[in-house]
Amino acid sequence: MATLTLENVKKTFGKTEVIHGVDIDVADGEFIVIVGPSGCGKSTLLRMVAGLESVSEGEVRINGARVNEKEPMERDIAMVFQNYALYPHMSVFDNMAYGLKIAKTPKPEIAERVAQAAKMLQLEPYLQRRPRELSGGQRQRVAMGRAIVRKPAVFLFDEPLSNLDAKLRVQMRLEIKQLQRELGVTALYVTHDQVEAMTLADRMIVMNGGRADQIGAPLEVYANPATDFVAGFIGSPP
Ligand code: ADP
Ligand code: MG
Repeated sequence: MATLTLENVKKTFGKTEVIHGVDIDVADGEFIVIVGPSGCGKSTLLRMVAGLESVSEGEVRINGARVNEKEPMERDIAMVFQNYALYPHMSVFDNMAYGLKIAKTPKPEIAERVAQAAKMLQLEPYLQRRPRELSGGQRQRVAMGRAIVRKPAVFLFDEPLSNLDAKLRVQMRLEIKQLQRELGVTALYVTHDQVEAMTLADRMIVMNGGRADQIGAPLEVYANPATDFVAGFIGSPP
């Protein structure tokens, strides 16, 4: 059971408020996709949930418990970034095992969880390689694996596929869809890609200038855009 709740969440940098009070309820096993133009606050929102930025106002709750003051590692959350952020000097195995080692997970369990994730992500042949010896898609899989092995309550994805070429992006999108089915993950997923949003989202959020203009099932958002901005931004279904 894993839920994520944002209640009137705001973020101020210096004197400038960039997130103006966002409410989101991610249900257990629900995959919510956030879309919106560059600078509207998508990354800042995820970083607050992850604990990489402080929350200026409002509440972030995981399974009902407030996490605003918790350190990132204590939040039961895993985040996958656009630029993978792998450790270049570590093997694929050690990259995937890193968070578990920090959490003092027993070695046999680390080995088992990494083996499981490697199988799921087709990374078994590459476990002893360094990241530089992998293709872009394989690196992205390692970043995904590092998140999966921790079995977090909540997954956060910040444009995880945007550095991949078009073909690989389609393939990875299908793989994420598959993982979603197998693991039933609770997730907030940011993307620029409308097809990605349509295929992955149980519900979709359209952000505009630090606000959530609309939250709803993708087809509902396309059929009944709540504002002119939403209508203009998402256009017609891909
Ligand atoms: P998005 O991910 O949607 O492109 P961001 O969350 O990165 O948007 O940024 C939202 C707004 O907050 C932007 O105006 C950006 O300039 C501002 N911002 C983000 N991080 C910082 C920071 N560390 N200090 C000051 N302003 C920031
Ligand atoms: Mg961003």
